[in-house]
Amino acid sequence: MGRLAYVNGRYVPHAQAMVHVEDRGYQFADGVYEVVPVIDGVLVDEEPHLDRLGYSLQELRIAWPVTRPVLKLILRELMTSNGLKRGLVYFQVSRGVAPRDHKFPAGIKSALVITTKRMNPPSEAVLRHGVAVSSQPDIRWTRRDIKSLSLLPNILAKQAATEAKAFEAWLVDGDGVVTEGSSTNAWIVKDGTVITYPKGHDILGGITRLSLLELADKTGTKLVERSFTLKEAISADEAFLTSSSAFILPVTSIDGQQIGSGKPGPVTQQLRQIYLDNVARQVQAAS
Ligand code: PMP
Repeated sequence: MGRLAYVNGRYVPHAQAMVHVEDRGYQFADGVYEVVPVIDGVLVDEEPHLDRLGYSLQELRIAWPVTRPVLKLILRELMTSNGLKRGLVYFQVSRGVAPRDHKFPAGIKSALVITTKRMNPPSEAVLRHGVAVSSQPDIRWTRRDIKSLSLLPNILAKQAATEAKAFEAWLVDGDGVVTEGSSTNAWIVKDGTVITYPKGHDILGGITRLSLLELADKTGTKLVERSFTLKEAISADEAFLTSSSAFILPVTSIDGQQIGSGKPGPVTQQLRQIYLDNVARQVQAAS
């Protein structure tokens, strides 16, 4: 059997997985989503991802489409059907289907869609050389902590970065501060201190960011959650990005300017290893 998707209570062939034209996710981006990495068939950091889903839903006053334990069962069922060992699970919840009208409709059920995708680990070349980023203006709304379906500024920034031959866009606000990437959190290392933008409404609280902060803190790494400017990033010793799909990737150039030695730095490499060891522990504990 081919790949399946889950759409509002049904497991359907991926190619035929459809939502209603009046799904508010489709018409208004009125919904939220999550992306959870899967390694060796295990959902990495599943609980914090579900906590963040709950937070996003609560902030937008959207009801859980199914209970949390049922959602966990459906995720496993779909991963098993699709034989997903390594990749990503994507799930989105929209406010539901109703005649188009801006205000919240009464008495509708939220809609749930889940898909899976296989993904290979980053290539040796990427890990050896790191990736390039391109700075782009941060033109998003002021509730970036909600993992909203509304990603238009993010995709425009990623496209601009791609056209500039960069892997990711780093978003820069009106004060010259790097908030985060278009789909990743942004980090720099200066004089042995690891720096990333503080949690709050200005950035998405990345789960990889959260895990890494906890893990690095335990190893005694010097960590500071504060803003940094693009100028500071360009003169940093090291830079890197984090996300559920990339985990931790070294950033070795910004706007064509070399960062530090121009090679993945020792702190970045150490943090990547700490993170991967934690993933391996989760896989072991689940099997
Ligand atoms: N920031 C933004 C804007 C994102 O879209 C993402 C990925 N969803 C991240 C940061 C990283 O978050 P996570 O580590 O949970 O994937």
